Amino acid sequence: MNEPVDLVIHGGRIVSPETVIEASIAIRGETIVAVGAPDAMPEAKETFDATGLHILPGAIDVHVHFRDPGYTHKEDFESGTAAAAFGGVTTVFDMPNTIPTVADGETLKVKHAIAASKAHVDYGLYAVLGEDTIDKVPELIEAGIIGFKCYMGNTFGRIPTPSTGAMLEAFEMVAPTGKRISLHAETNSVMERRQKRLTESGRTDPLAHLASRPAVVAVEAVARAAILAEWTGARIHILHISSAAELGPLRDAKARGVDITGETCPHYLMLGEADYARCRGIIRVNPPVRESVNNEPLWAGLLDGTIDMIATDHAPHTPEEKTRADIWSVDCGFPGVETQMPLMLTEVAAGRYDIRDYVRWSAVNPAKVWGLYPKKGAILPGADADLAFVDLDHAWTLRDADLQSRSKISPWDGRKVVGLPRHTMVRGRFVMKDRALVADTKGHGRSVHAIQQMPEARPLHTDETLSAVTADRPEVAA
Ligand SMILES: [Zn+2]
Repeated sequence: MNEPVDLVIHGGRIVSPETVIEASIAIRGETIVAVGAPDAMPEAKETFDATGLHILPGAIDVHVHFRDPGYTHKEDFESGTAAAAFGGVTTVFDMPNTIPTVADGETLKVKHAIAASKAHVDYGLYAVLGEDTIDKVPELIEAGIIGFKCYMGNTFGRIPTPSTGAMLEAFEMVAPTGKRISLHAETNSVMERRQKRLTESGRTDPLAHLASRPAVVAVEAVARAAILAEWTGARIHILHISSAAELGPLRDAKARGVDITGETCPHYLMLGEADYARCRGIIRVNPPVRESVNNEPLWAGLLDGTIDMIATDHAPHTPEEKTRADIWSVDCGFPGVETQMPLMLTEVAAGRYDIRDYVRWSAVNPAKVWGLYPKKGAILPGADADLAFVDLDHAWTLRDADLQSRSKISPWDGRKVVGLPRHTMVRGRFVMKDRALVADTKGHGRSVHAIQQMPEARPLHTDETLSAVTADRPEVAA
C-alpha cells in the first residue's frame, strides 16, 4: 500500500443497517480499500470533502423499464441511467418487455451491447420465463442475466402469461441454477373478466382501472407462485406488492421455508384512491394504486421484514400516452427511479423510520437477495465504491419538468420532499456531482451478472415425476 490511493473522502457520515458513523473512505480504482478515522487513511492523489452529507451505499433498484430497444421515445439506457444517477441509484435491473422481448440468447446479447454503450450506472438484465421459452433457460443464463421475469398477468408489452403447468416446469428448470424468478403476480384470467364487464358497462374513468384489478388478483397469484416455488425449490421474488392482503401469503410462504422475497414501491406506500381524481391516467399502473387503507400495513410490512426492499417499477411513457380520456387506452406506469430516494428520505425526516432501515431496503437487501453482497450494497473494504451522497435536511419540491427521464409526467409533480441525493459515485467514479451529470460517464455502467453468486436452490418436496418431465430438456449450467 505504498502507492497512494486515488481518492479519500472525508467528513461524511457513513450509513449501514447497523450504524451511522463519521469516517473517511479510501478508494483505489473502482474499489473501497479502507474505511476509518481520517488519520488512518492512506496517502491519496485526491481528496473529497463530504462534510454535512450522509454517505449511503448506492441504491439498487431491482425493477426498472428503460424501454431500450423498441420504445426509445419513452426512455433509453442513457436517459434511464442518468435518471438513476440523479436518484442516488448505482445499480438497476432492467425488465425484458422491450422489442423484441428478451427471451433468447441473441436478443439478450443485442441488449447487452446497447446497455454497455449507454449506461451511466451498473445494471443487470432480466429475461422472460414464458409458456414457450423454458428451453431457452440455458442460453439465457449463458448470455448473462441477473434473473428471470415471469408475467402472471398482462401489462405493458402484452407478453402472454404462462399457464400454471408451464410455470411449474419453468420453476423446476430454473431451480438448480439458483437464479431468482421475479413475478408480476396478478392473475390474468380474473382481470380479463373484470375488465370486460367494466368495459361493457361503459366505464372509462380512472377508477375503473382499480376496479378491474382488485387485491384478490394479486393475493391468488402470490399464493400460487409460492406453492410452485415450494414444490420445485425455485427462488422467487414478488414484484410491486400493492395490497395489505398479499402480506398474508408472503408471510406464510416465508414461514414454510420458501425462498421468497418481496418489494413494494413508493406509490403503493404514499398514494391512494383519492389521487385518481387529481392524476387521472397518470396514476394508471399495474398493479393499481389501491385504497389508502393499504398504506399503513405496507409500511408495517417493510418495517417487520415481510417486505424485503423498495423498488420503483420505473415505467416511463409520453404525456400523450398518459393523458388519453379513455382509461383503458392509457399506457400503464410512470417514472420512479429518480424520485424513490427523496420520497423515502422524507419519511426518515418525518421520523417514521431510521436512515439505517432505509439502506437495508434500498441497497443491502437487494444486493443480498441477488447474490451481489458485499461487492454491492456495502461500504466496506473490498466493495465496489458505489456511493450516494445525500443531504438529509434539504427541503425541495419534485418537478416533472426537472426529471432526467425522457418521461416528464408522474404523480409526484409538486410533491414536497426532504432529502436530496447530491452526488452519486459508481465504482469509484462520480457520475452525478452537484446535481449535474458528469461528462464522459456514458458507457461507464457495467453488467453485474458476472459478479453474481447464487448457490443452488433445493426443493422442500421430492417429486420424482417432476424430474422425469424435465429430464429431456437441455443441460443447465449451474
Ligand atoms: Zn414492471
